Amino acid sequence: SAVGSPEQCSCFYLQDAYSDIKHLLKLENALRTADYDQEFQVHYQPQFSLVTGKLVGCEALLRWRQPVLGWVSPTEFIPVAEECGAIFDLGRWVLETVCRDMQSWHDKGGEGCRVAVNYSGVQFFGGHLVEDLEGILGGYNINPGLLQVEVTENVAMQDMDAASETLKKIKELGVRLSIDDFGTGYSSLSYLKSLPFDELKVDKSFVDDLPEDNSCVSVVRSIIALGHNLGMSVLAEGVEDKAQRSCLREAGCDDAQGYFFARPLPKTEFEKMLSDAG
Ligand code: C2E
Ligand code: MG
Ligand code: MG
Ligand code: MG
Repeated sequence: SAVGSPEQCSCFYLQDAYSDIKHLLKLENALRTADYDQEFQVHYQPQFSLVTGKLVGCEALLRWRQPVLGWVSPTEFIPVAEECGAIFDLGRWVLETVCRDMQSWHDKGGEGCRVAVNYSGVQFFGGHLVEDLEGILGGYNINPGLLQVEVTENVAMQDMDAASETLKKIKELGVRLSIDDFGTGYSSLSYLKSLPFDELKVDKSFVDDLPEDNSCVSVVRSIIALGHNLGMSVLAEGVEDKAQRSCLREAGCDDAQGYFFARPLPKTEFEKMLSDAG
């Protein structure tokens, strides 16, 4: 048979590429025509202090339920939204939704809750992030210090001058800054020192092999020391079991989030947790 012949292989590849492209076009079209309020939701994943065990904040994570396609993961649709430019409207919708929720928590009394919002490279460099933040924050009576902008290490390192300038402007609004997925990119440490980050998030890939893998323990300890030496608090991502939590706590990590504590929760479920904590 001709199985494995070059002709047949390239035909398979073309078919794969063709169906990938069809899928991406379908997603792009669905994004362009989406009714945001109907199809998108912001879920909140709680974050806890490893010292006190208390709820210290949460991360806002976008969820999309497309009427025909069903649930689509952000790892799938964020790149498409970046490609077609929908990410800017979507980003403003997320921020508006988060601020509205924060306002309602504030109005119910209590100290409110810190919320981290993710921004991709395209959003960070290509849009009007600072203007959006200023404009939307201006419409709500919330403490800007409870809002946190989260960008990955690679975004912060991508275009150093532009990143530094934007980070400083965000900081001037009183908004906190967090560096996401730390350890997976290529940081210039001397440059990192000059950036006004408040929090460093240790990537899940380092947490996964705790506590068995000794070299992982060493790396995590080093990252925590680095964060602390640069004046940042350190949060571990993707904590899934008790042994990982203990190891991180012993290593002096400040905060953690992960399935061990809680999954990202729909607004009403997160609010229950918030009122129980308060
Ligand atoms: P991220 O910012 O690093 O978010 C952490 C991801 O890890 C989330 O996936 C979260 O649900 C997942 N996670 C949390 N704890 C655990 C755990 O214990 N185990 C495992 N296996 N996973 C855990 P999610 O929600 O699918 O989001 C994926 C990525 O999509 C995010 O990574 C972020 O880069 C991006 N994203 C999500 N929402 C937004 C958004 O509103 N805007 C932008 N620009 N990006 C977003
Ligand atoms: Mg994040
Ligand atoms: Mg992350
Ligand atoms: Mg990630």
